[in-house]
Amino acid sequence: MYGLGIAKGMIVTFKHLFRKPFTVQYPEEVVPRGSRFRGYEFTWYEDRCTGCASCAKYCPLGTINIVTHPEGDPKQGMDYAIDIFDIDTGRCMFCGLCVEACPYEAIQAGGPLDDATYDFESLYRDKHKLTEMAQEHLHGHDFTYPNGKQAPQPDEKPLHIGLPVERDRTR
Ligand code: SF4
Ligand code: SF4
Repeated sequence: MYGLGIAKGMIVTFKHLFRKPFTVQYPEEVVPRGSRFRGYEFTWYEDRCTGCASCAKYCPLGTINIVTHPEGDPKQGMDYAIDIFDIDTGRCMFCGLCVEACPYEAIQAGGPLDDATYDFESLYRDKHKLTEMAQEHLHGHDFTYPNGKQAPQPDEKPLHIGLPVERDRTR
């Protein structure tokens, strides 16, 4: 029948006219993402990191590079000072094994999503760049880590992490 197609089309149009839109005004609005979302960048928190290198050992692509040296008084207990902590995110497949392997929650999945670049070199992040990204994340999220736990405020003493932290396995 002549006009039937137009009528059907208008019915569909009117049905959607009063529905809540699925789209959001990105980048002003961002769709909430689940806690198991794996598309994020990493953030790394130097104050939590002991330099144990578990993350680097578990990375199947050898993307994380760590160099440390022992420091402290052998009588009081030694620590590792972190000389180099690099992540070559251009090679990373975001499997999250490094995040799982870290006993201190020093490396976490969560960070910027909008950092596409034409400059391949900028995907190589050293500890200074990673710290800058971590600080940006904390300042933009009321000093909450990506895993939802509270981070120390800037005027508080940085956390001294002596023991592995209890993991929330639902994340
Ligand atoms: S997410 Fe996977 S590939 Fe990327 S750095 Fe971690 S362990 Fe390596
Ligand atoms: S596993 Fe965690 S604590 Fe150990 S070196 Fe990697 S980020 Fe640091």
